[in-house]
Amino acid sequence: GLGIIPLEGFTIPTKDNSIEEEEVNPIRLRSNENPYGPSASARNAMSTSINASNRYNWELLDELIGKIAQKHNVTYQNILLGAGSSEILNLVALYCSKKPGNLIIAETTFDYWTITAENAGLKKNAIPLTTDKKHDLATMLNAIDADTKLVYICNPNNPTGTICDNEALLNFIKEATKRTKVLVDEAYLDFTNQPSLANLVTENKNLIIAKTFSKIYGLAGARIGYALAHPEIINEMSQLQFATNGSVSTTAASGALASLNDNKFVAETILLNAEARKYTMEQLENLKIPCIPSHTNFIYFSLENYKKDFFAQLEKNNILGTKIYEEKGKWSRITIGTMKEMKQFIKALK
Ligand code: PLP
Repeated sequence: GLGIIPLEGFTIPTKDNSIEEEEVNPIRLRSNENPYGPSASARNAMSTSINASNRYNWELLDELIGKIAQKHNVTYQNILLGAGSSEILNLVALYCSKKPGNLIIAETTFDYWTITAENAGLKKNAIPLTTDKKHDLATMLNAIDADTKLVYICNPNNPTGTICDNEALLNFIKEATKRTKVLVDEAYLDFTNQPSLANLVTENKNLIIAKTFSKIYGLAGARIGYALAHPEIINEMSQLQFATNGSVSTTAASGALASLNDNKFVAETILLNAEARKYTMEQLENLKIPCIPSHTNFIYFSLENYKKDFFAQLEKNNILGTKIYEEKGKWSRITIGTMKEMKQFIKALK
């Protein structure tokens, strides 16, 4: 490779421009992908969609947006599609940085996209998580000042797997959106039983919700996600790019549409994830590796008391993990794969 650490979910092309092949089938526990996806119905729909790929996909995108609107009980005008929620986060960053100011975000959270906001001139105000690795909503609310352009809440949070208390989050949004824009990233919300806040956008002009098909639906490589917001915001954000909803391919849209009709796959993913998560957390605790209770398809844990070289053990066993997120406490994260993969992960640590 090029000796640089790829962003989560992205593969760095090698110098000869081919995609880097890992040695024999590594166990991918790095990017919080869904090991069971795409669902059978999504695979079918995507294969068939190849035949229609000579045509522009405006009607298909209309149908998909209609379906998403129905799911969240909002209107067509509340939705903007993107090639993954990364594209959406990027657009929100651009949209909120038209004038100089600051961006309030937790430390530690999913923040790769904030480079766009910083490049556009926003100053980042990182508010530490609580000791149990949750968003400190009270302190974040207090931090809002006249220059605040955006507050980002990742719920549940990546990499810590924690979730905000629903009522506390609702209160936070109510107060914060009186003064600034709030972006809630629900990438992992489907792994929990907390309701989506999506339908609040019909009333609240300062709330933006980001959603993705990459996680619960297992479509990370298809690249499809969406924003929900007030029609005015959707309109203004879509004007920041050349083609509204335009980055979404026929194949991705077809997979997404089929996935929205496949509740069985979602239920199975939730169940299998919960089983493998329970096993992994118990085993980590046995190895004296303390974990933060996870509401997601990944686990955050402290390597402070682990005597071996964690990353060397992973490498020896051809397992892809992540990195140290917080030096203090040596916190790292592992994605929950299949039960078989998690057994191999635990064996590698022993
Ligand atoms: N938001 C969160 C919290 C994530 O963890 C990720 C990817 O890992 C994304 C957004 C971006 O995902 P995608 O662009 O595949 O939708």
